[in-house]
Amino acid sequence: MERILNLIGGELRQATGGAWLDNHDPATAAVYALIPDSDEHDVRIATEAAQAALPAWRSLGREGRSNAMLKLAELIERDLERFALAESRDNGKPVHLARKVDIPRAVSNLRFFATAILHFGTEAHVMDDVAVNYTERQPIGVVGCISPWNLPLYLFTWKIAPALAAGNTVVAKPSEVTPMTAFLLSRLCGEAGIPPGVLNIVHGLGPKVGAAITAHPSITAISFTGGTRTGAEIARVAAPLFKKLSLELGGKNPVLVFADCDFDDMLSTTVRSSFTNQGQICLCGSRILIERSIYDRFKEAFVKRVKALRVGDPADPGSDLGAVVSEAHMQKVLGHIAQARAEGGTVLCGGERVRLEGRLKDGWYIAPTVIEGLGPACATNQEEIFGPVVSLQPFENETHALQLANDSSYGLAGVVWTSDVKRAHRVARALRTGIVWVNCWMVRDLRTPFGGMKQSGVGREGGEEALRFFTEAKNICIRL
Ligand code: NAD
Repeated sequence: MERILNLIGGELRQATGGAWLDNHDPATAAVYALIPDSDEHDVRIATEAAQAALPAWRSLGREGRSNAMLKLAELIERDLERFALAESRDNGKPVHLARKVDIPRAVSNLRFFATAILHFGTEAHVMDDVAVNYTERQPIGVVGCISPWNLPLYLFTWKIAPALAAGNTVVAKPSEVTPMTAFLLSRLCGEAGIPPGVLNIVHGLGPKVGAAITAHPSITAISFTGGTRTGAEIARVAAPLFKKLSLELGGKNPVLVFADCDFDDMLSTTVRSSFTNQGQICLCGSRILIERSIYDRFKEAFVKRVKALRVGDPADPGSDLGAVVSEAHMQKVLGHIAQARAEGGTVLCGGERVRLEGRLKDGWYIAPTVIEGLGPACATNQEEIFGPVVSLQPFENETHALQLANDSSYGLAGVVWTSDVKRAHRVARALRTGIVWVNCWMVRDLRTPFGGMKQSGVGREGGEEALRFFTEAKNICIRL
């Protein structure tokens, strides 16, 4: 059985305590690899390695760091098929998705920040004849990057790339549910010319490894993506230590469908925004709000399309949905569906576990599920489900649509479907979400600020926002 190893000080090693955790294949439920069950001690030695590596990494300069990161991107691209198969097996997502989205995006993340740092400028403030101020943005030092399981390599690289480009060294923790592609990446770091200790990857459980990274006094910034409850725990520990924090948390994203939209385009995209990656993308739209005059038309057409989606072997190019990530997550999602029924909701399609045949018979599959008949206050419309489940609600007019859309403790993303330009601007401005897509979904420009309002997070990632987060601004004032 394959053993995943930590990357510490340039060496691949098992956890100091020698313990291992099981790593499952969601398609079959079988254990197929072992993960180091690391602890505080492993985090300590990783942090020491990161501290020791700081001067050399900084002295490489922007260009030297950029070259090493570009090389790493090239090596991942060379091994793209291997990474895609590994991501699909570890996470349960269809391999065509990993091939088209996850791994190419990980390559783009590295390339984007490796080149962005070459163009990253700073400000100067001149005080007439008195003095000139200039802002220097220095690397913070050793930073912690903690990532989730839904887009494993994609979100892991989205954090480590700006951190490294800015001149920091990193102690990173991928999700224990999907550690494989971060391990494959760690095996390429030496070949890419990333010096030992610059990137350290410690595998293991959140409350052990993640908590130790959060609490370590020498790790001065934490970039976290994951659940809102975990984010609150990280903030509780990190705040008294005065760490810089970037928190990308949960969502309950509204999709607003106005009667004047391009119906066919809206329909195809809304099927994707509901069920891509088994609905396990923080940006998936889970509350679909439809103008009353087209509610029945939408419902009929949408349910027909959803029923035609194929849940199947992630390795099969014909599968639209693969397996959800873990047995615990499958039970959680099924629990939400049961709750929706108990609240009086009507399940229009799906609503149950799918049992496939042969080697896939124990895998964790859920039929794409559409629910209607529940008001905005119901748990189904308030709690994040993070699976292949959406709800439909009708609205009467624009004001009502916005009221429903903003009636949430989350504020990550919103999608608006309309052909009325004025309405598009009005609604986009009034939505309390950090990201709004009009007549599209998941169109991503890596230069744009990315993040949520309310309980969806604190701070923004992406472009210069990320480079600012991973640097400390220092004002230097010189008397003229
Ligand atoms: P999670 O919070 O359970 O875990 C995320 C990471 O935090 C994992 O690496 C985990 O091991 C670690 N962790 C757990 N407990 C910890 C602790 N006490 N201290 C430090 N680290 C700890 O989230 P998940 O289940 O892996 O991911 C799903 C969640 O992530 C969903 O809520 C989803 O909305 C959110 N998410 C948000 C975004 C975004 O950009 N806003 C993107 C993807 C996923």
